[in-house]
Amino acid sequence: MNANNFMQTIDELKELLRQDGQFETNTRPTSQVEILKETALCCELLYFEDFTFRKGSIAGDIYVTKIKDIFSQPKRKKYHPLNHPGPSVFNVNFKISECTGNEGVYSHKTQTITVHPDFNDFITLMHEMIHAYDDQMTHAQAEILTIMLYNKLKCKIKNLDLVLLAWAQYDNQKMLEQNGETAHEVLFLLKSLDLELRLELPVGTISGFFSKRKDTLQAPMGKIKIERISDNK
Ligand SMILES: [Zn+2]
Repeated sequence: MNANNFMQTIDELKELLRQDGQFETNTRPTSQVEILKETALCCELLYFEDFTFRKGSIAGDIYVTKIKDIFSQPKRKKYHPLNHPGPSVFNVNFKISECTGNEGVYSHKTQTITVHPDFNDFITLMHEMIHAYDDQMTHAQAEILTIMLYNKLKCKIKNLDLVLLAWAQYDNQKMLEQNGETAHEVLFLLKSLDLELRLELPVGTISGFFSKRKDTLQAPMGKIKIERISDNK
């Protein structure tokens, strides 16, 4: 799927949700920030069913077990089209503003996704959305998602173990921290890979930490080319 097709799908979904009365108003947003938030909600519906623990997703049964009270979430201020108790970008703040040295940034303190005006696209948005969901999860939720996404991706990426080992290596994590951002842990990489495969984007597009050579991780221990299983057929 190329960027134009993706945005066309998002725009069609926005219209459907608006006609169905699922957005706060039935008029189209006029500000760039409102458009960004609607895009984020549509991305959530289409590609973050796992991170929002929707029923039927790879970790979706977590909210229908008897221990659901442990994961109680703050009450939503307004009606939300997803209408489920999991993490969501619905109550996250959005900003379009220059962020020094970054295409986007997520602030844990203010629960705000900021997108640089020169990089206001779904790539930057999805990267920061991963941080926003991660910030709303319990450790147990992050752990179960890590296992589920690993199981999903291990049949799609032949050398996934090697890639994860390189990613988790101390020097690599220190390098990512030095880029001025928060956590880019194993779950972050797994979700980035999942999105890149689903959207048919070159590996590294969402995570942003791969070399320009397609599908190659630039880690301190050296370059690792991602070996997709479908590539070998
Ligand atoms: Zn980041």
